[in-house]
Amino acid sequence: MRKEIPENFIPFNKPGLAGKELEYISRALEAGHISGNGIFTGQCQALLEKELSVGRALLTTSCTHALEISAILLDLSPGDEVIVPSFTFVTTALAFVMRGARPVFIDIRPDTLNLDEDRLENLITGRTRAVVPVHYGGVACEMEKIMEIARRRGLTVVEDNAHGLFGSYRGRPLGSIGELAALSFHETKNFSCGEGGALLVNNPELVERAEIIREKGTDRSRMFRGEVDRYTWLDLGSSYIPSDLLAAFLLAQLEEREKIRAGRRRIWEYYYRNLGPWAEDRDIRLPPRPPPDREPSHHLFYLLLPSSRIREKLILHLRDRRIHSVFHYLPLHLSPMGRRFGGEEADCPVAEEISGRLLRLPFYNDMKIEELQRVVNAVKDFSA
Ligand SMILES: *Cc1c(COP(=O)(O)O)cnc(C)c1O
Repeated sequence: MRKEIPENFIPFNKPGLAGKELEYISRALEAGHISGNGIFTGQCQALLEKELSVGRALLTTSCTHALEISAILLDLSPGDEVIVPSFTFVTTALAFVMRGARPVFIDIRPDTLNLDEDRLENLITGRTRAVVPVHYGGVACEMEKIMEIARRRGLTVVEDNAHGLFGSYRGRPLGSIGELAALSFHETKNFSCGEGGALLVNNPELVERAEIIREKGTDRSRMFRGEVDRYTWLDLGSSYIPSDLLAAFLLAQLEEREKIRAGRRRIWEYYYRNLGPWAEDRDIRLPPRPPPDREPSHHLFYLLLPSSRIREKLILHLRDRRIHSVFHYLPLHLSPMGRRFGGEEADCPVAEEISGRLLRLPFYNDMKIEELQRVVNAVKDFSA
């Protein structure tokens, strides 16, 4: 049942249609193929491979599952370590923990809130196998330095690119830089089919095994391509393939990528322009404009308030004006699960300090100018 959105209420996120979603879903039904790997899955994958210049894109049931496939591909042994930012979504770490790895939490930079590459080398031990940069808000991490360290120290780089689809770093699409990358098409992300994701495989040696893991440990994909005449159980894996109905919905969104990207840029710029002087006068920080060597995806817009007390006051102030604003990640190293891996020993002062002060403003693809104006006016109306 649909949750009623009261009139006049501006939600934090709202799923929308970019164009042909419903038409494509009907077509998938008419084609008589609504399980996975149908024509729409193939089209989404081809589009991602072309636009992102990646060797292989495989749609998955979520970004979490794409990260889980990455973790299986890494052949982790218990006690192996994977370096993840503390300031990220749970599954950036959990997917690797599921394979027996120990998450090692790295702090973030105070400007981009991306992992602090200057701290990376110090966290590497003889057991470190991988590092998982998250392009927070769709602004690239310092990939050159991260890749250089990873190459020199023999680590695999898995980009968690849940936020940054179609963003880039020095001309390279996000998700095409590490050996592996994961995308999310969850309802809250820039491009969505409700729940979904993709694994991007940039190392050609990993492609065949990635397909097998995604297909319940079997070589069914090879059978569909006519390379073998029956399929068999070969490896670990699970049921990681989304329905073609979801791929149909997603393709409609991906096809409208220029419209969606331009719309999100407009929202970001509107907030930035209209809240800039107000914020400066009040010791409130906005996300910095990224350096010119990287194109952001404009996934979110936040305010960094002077204290968590003021943040709570602003949330209530906006709620009174029928506007939903939300905070973001709680540092993973201090979570009950993070502590089981020695999280309280982790040195992540920036994540700890920023997490309690960050507030995200409403941000969705078909946000109207009147809604943006209302949010900006309500924020400016706030006095701590
Ligand atoms: C949303 C998100 C995920 C998880 O995505 P799902 O598709 O919901 O599994 C992982 N990492 C980051 C950084 C995210 O924002």
